[in-house]
Amino acid sequence: MERSLLEGLSHRVFQAGDTVFREGEVGNCAYLIEQGRVEISTLCDGIRMVLAEMGPGDLFGEMAIIDGRPRTATVTALEATRLMIVSQAQIRARLHDADPVLRLLLTVVLERFRHSKETLSGSLPEPALTTLPTADRGDAIARMVLESELQRALEQNEFELFYQPIFDLGDRSDHGIAGFEALLRWRHPERGLLGPGHFIDVAEQSVLCGAIGRWVISEACRRQAQFAAAGGEQVYLSINLSARQFTEDDFAGQLAAIVQATGADPGRLTLEITERLLLDFESAQVRIEQCRAQGFQIALDDFGTGYSSLSCLHRLPIDTLKIDRSFVNAMLQESHGMSIIRAVLDLAHNLGMRAVAEGIELPAELAALRELKCGYGQGFLLARPLPLAEALARLQAGQSAAA
Ligand code: C2E
Ligand code: CA
Ligand code: CA
Repeated sequence: MERSLLEGLSHRVFQAGDTVFREGEVGNCAYLIEQGRVEISTLCDGIRMVLAEMGPGDLFGEMAIIDGRPRTATVTALEATRLMIVSQAQIRARLHDADPVLRLLLTVVLERFRHSKETLSGSLPEPALTTLPTADRGDAIARMVLESELQRALEQNEFELFYQPIFDLGDRSDHGIAGFEALLRWRHPERGLLGPGHFIDVAEQSVLCGAIGRWVISEACRRQAQFAAAGGEQVYLSINLSARQFTEDDFAGQLAAIVQATGADPGRLTLEITERLLLDFESAQVRIEQCRAQGFQIALDDFGTGYSSLSCLHRLPIDTLKIDRSFVNAMLQESHGMSIIRAVLDLAHNLGMRAVAEGIELPAELAALRELKCGYGQGFLLARPLPLAEALARLQAGQSAAA
């Protein structure tokens, strides 16, 4: 009955003494009190007990929506009351989008509450209609386990940076390493060497995001002098930043502190950010300018896969566009593949940015990129990400071969 009354309505008005819903009914919405007051009560051994009184701004009736169980209390208006309806779909959509660990915690808390209430009242638990599916529960628990493992990894120094050479494509000898992209690896004691695909999402959503990000920047800064010694002052290192890290309040301050502590040369360090950050254009602009003021260069990573508005690009002091692998791979396979790369290269050149093509795997891709005068490239064809010692050795070998 509640459903038919509610359809098409966003508000309901009750007079003093009216019942909003009764214990045991199936719920299909929650309510936000706009005006007036309500009383929440429950029957205990046949005696009505008042659990709470609520007023403007309070939300009630959400529990039955979250776990699909019947209403556990009766709500009565104490005076003329106007309620805004929060639909089942609104609540479920938010639950669906929420962090899985948060969803699990919410479900556990609610189950505990229901269980305690049923134990106290001596009734048998009602079966839940929408508790968290086992797969979701497993996923949430796996995330929590991974988070504690990541914490240990930081403490035990299990993280490592690999370095993938970025080549100057104008140098036909393939010895022309212009720089390296630092890529995070985890030397897991049981699972071996893990790439970021195994952990970066969980890391970025957890409290460890800042600490891991700072570790990456510090490690790259510490190693920079070794790269300069092996390959000359002009060799640069490129560091990946997560959106969350880049938008931290004191990010520029952290960066300055790391540079000071490590003695790194920011002029030879590039910070890779993704287009997603540009959605909040004003904030991105300020942050990019703060990094550039310290001497860092900025690269826009995975260019073409995000939402950056081309009309804004020229207003940002970005030094490098990194053309996403998907475009490089489509270049020779799809009819417009080549035109897209050409357009991106034109855009980069016209805006005075350098272009780096990512994910070059085939000789034909390399040849085509050279033909199109793409300045820089990286990919498995040229070199895979290498551990520090191998990256330095490769740089030295390239220097001697070119000499
Ligand atoms: P990305 O920034 O786009 O990095 C390039 C990824 O492509 C690397 O994967 C690299 O190994 C891979 N790659 C390079 N050349 C080729 C190729 O020719 N073919 C193919 N199929 N792949 C190629 P990796 O190291 O697994 O990193 C994956 C992503 O994880 C990175 O994508 C980046 O978004 C993220 N990541 C890596 N290190 C860090 C880090 O220190 N901090 C943050 N926040 N994210 C990182
Ligand atoms: Ca990158
Ligand atoms: Ca990329």
